[in-house]
Amino acid sequence: MENVVIIGSGPSGHTAAIYCARANLAPVMLEGLMAGGIAAGGQLTTTTEVENYPGFPDGISGPELMERMRAQSLRCGTRIITETVERLECSARPFRVIGDAGTVLEAKAVIIATGATARRMNLPGEERLWQRGISACAVCDGALPLFRNKVLVVVGGGDSAAEEALHLTKYSANVILMHRREELRASRVMQKRVLENSRIRVMWNTVPLEIVGDKFVDALRVQDVKTGVVSELPCGGLFYAIGHQPNTAFLNNQIQLDDIGYVLTAPGSTRTSLEGVFACGDVQDRRYRQAITAAGSGCMAALEVERFLDGGH
Ligand code: FAD
Ligand code: NDP
Repeated sequence: MENVVIIGSGPSGHTAAIYCARANLAPVMLEGLMAGGIAAGGQLTTTTEVENYPGFPDGISGPELMERMRAQSLRCGTRIITETVERLECSARPFRVIGDAGTVLEAKAVIIATGATARRMNLPGEERLWQRGISACAVCDGALPLFRNKVLVVVGGGDSAAEEALHLTKYSANVILMHRREELRASRVMQKRVLENSRIRVMWNTVPLEIVGDKFVDALRVQDVKTGVVSELPCGGLFYAIGHQPNTAFLNNQIQLDDIGYVLTAPGSTRTSLEGVFACGDVQDRRYRQAITAAGSGCMAALEVERFLDGGH
C-alpha cells in the first residue's frame, strides 16, 4: 500500500513529489508515456527557452528544466514508473491506480497532475515549423527575438485569444486577431480592450488553411469563410488560442469536473470533490497555466496530502 501516488510528471507533479518525498511519504509517480500526446516531463518538453522560471537568469531549455526536476524528485526518494494511468478506481478505499502496462497500485491518497494540452489545428506546415514561428502560448514565447516587430497572428476568439493578442502588442504594433466568426466569445471587458487597441486588427470570419515558410513562418494561407476567397497573409508568427484540453478522460467522471473537463478544486486548495484525491497544475487551472503556478500548486497538494494522511483536513 502506497501513501501517495502522483499521476503526471510536469512541474506540478515533480514539485508535489519533491515535497512528499521530503516528508517521508515515499511517493510513487506514474510519469506517463506520451500521455495526452506529451512526453514525460510535460508541456515544457515541447518548448525551447524558458525565460520566466525563477532561478535561471540566462533562461533554460524546457527539456533541461524538466530533466532537472525529475533528477531532484529521484534524489529526494520518489519512485518513478514510466507508464500512463488508464484508470483510477476511487469508489472504495484504498484507491487503485491502474497503468496501461500492467502496474496496479493501491494508495491512501492520489495527486492528479496530468496537465492540459493546448489544442492545435494540425495545418499543413505546422509540424515542420512548430516553435519556428508557431506557438500555443504567447505569454511564454512572445518575448522571443523571433517575434519582435513582426506581423503576429493570434487564432481564436475567446478570452485567451484576447489576452494573448493584448500581450503581443508589447512586442509588435501589428497584431492580428483571426476569428472564424464575426463575434468574439471573449468577455465584454476583454473584447473592449482588444477592439480599442490600435495595435490589434481583428480579421473576422477567417481561418488559416496552411502555414507557409522555409525555415520560419513567412505567411499564412487563409480563407474568408463567408466568401470562400483564399489569400496569402504575410506574417512572422502564429499563436493558437483555441482552447486547452485538460487530461482528465481517465478519471471517468468519478471526480467533479467543470464544463470543459478541468478538475474542480476547493478555492485556495487542491482538494477535489473526493476526499483523499488532490489535483494540482494545469489540470485544475484554466486561468494561469504557467510552470511556476503549476509548481506552486504541486507544493500545496503535497502539504495537503501530508495533513490528510496525518488525519487532519
Ligand atoms: P504538464 O506540464 O502538462 O504535464 C503533465 C504531464 O502528465 C505530461 O507529461 C502528461 O504526459 C502526463 N500525463 C497526462 N495524462 C497522464 C496519465 N493518464 N498518466 C500519466 N501521466 C499523464 N510556462 C511558463 O511558465 N513558462 C514558459 O516559458 C512556458 N512555455 C510554454 C511553451 C509551450 C509550447 C507550452 C505548451 C506551454 C508553456 N508553458 C510555459 C506552460 C507550462 O508548460 C505549463 O503551465 C506547465 O507545464 C503545467 O504543468 P503541469 O505539471 O500542470 O502539467
Ligand atoms: P474558449 O473555448 O473560450 O475559446 C476558444 C476560441 O477558439 C473560441 O473563440 C473558438 O471559436 C475558437 N476556436 C476553437 N476551435 C477552433 C478552430 N478549430 N478553429 C478556429 N477557431 C477555433 O477558450 P479560452 O482558452 O479562450 O478560454 C477558456 C476559459 O478560460 C474561458 O472560460 C475563459 O473565460 C477563461 N479565461 C479567462 C481569462 C480571463 O478572465 N482573463 C483569460 C483566459 C481564459 P468560437 O467562438 O467560434 O467557438
